[in-house]
Amino acid sequence: MSNEKKRILIVEDEEAIANGLRFNMEAEGYEPVVLGDGPSTLSYFEENSHDVDLIILDLMLPGMSGYEICRAVRERDQTVPIIILSARTLSEDKSHAFDCGTDQYITKPFALPELLSRVRQLLKRQRVEPPPKHAVEIEDFQIGNVHINFKTFEVTSPEEKHHLTTMEMQLLRYFIENESDVLSRSKILRDVWEQGAEVTSRTIDNFVMRLRKYIEEDPSNPRHLLSVRGTGYRFVAEP
Ligand code: CA
Repeated sequence: MSNEKKRILIVEDEEAIANGLRFNMEAEGYEPVVLGDGPSTLSYFEENSHDVDLIILDLMLPGMSGYEICRAVRERDQTVPIIILSARTLSEDKSHAFDCGTDQYITKPFALPELLSRVRQLLKRQRVEPPPKHAVEIEDFQIGNVHINFKTFEVTSPEEKHHLTTMEMQLLRYFIENESDVLSRSKILRDVWEQGAEVTSRTIDNFVMRLRKYIEEDPSNPRHLLSVRGTGYRFVAEP
């Protein structure tokens, strides 16, 4: 493990919150960089993307919303962990945030220990892949004519190539590792997301809808990522 300090980008326009976050991140041994709006965040990220280890992002910011920033960051970098910190508690906001590529969504007012634990978990995840369930960790996988590369987070079909987010990749890997098992939403939630993550069954459904777009020939008529009524999902590589 390197002793280098992890750099955390804090995007927050409310000074009191920004200062509190900066103070606590420093106390935890991280190197916080505070930015107050979208354009400065994106230009900072453009120049320093390799040095940014995690982003904490507010949603309501002047000029450019956190959603837009999240999307723009994801266009450049699919793996940097993003935590959205927002006063918005509606499930539509959360779904939209996950659609934009965030890894976590924490509502304000937030409990500091929870935020710090999310930060630690995501930094760990970024650094080392989750321990393999099989003797040999799967590096790639083929579903029909769709190729999945777990190293580059790319899913390639004859028509197009998608870059997946960390959470999308983790969920897809989970389905593949548990092939043909019926997986309930609560089990998926327990196994793939960290405990207490602000994720609802609906979020899982949205993630599955996205995975279907990547791996299914006809996402509205899935052959691999199947719904199991009243329970959850089941993945089948070769129907
Ligand atoms: Ca704000």
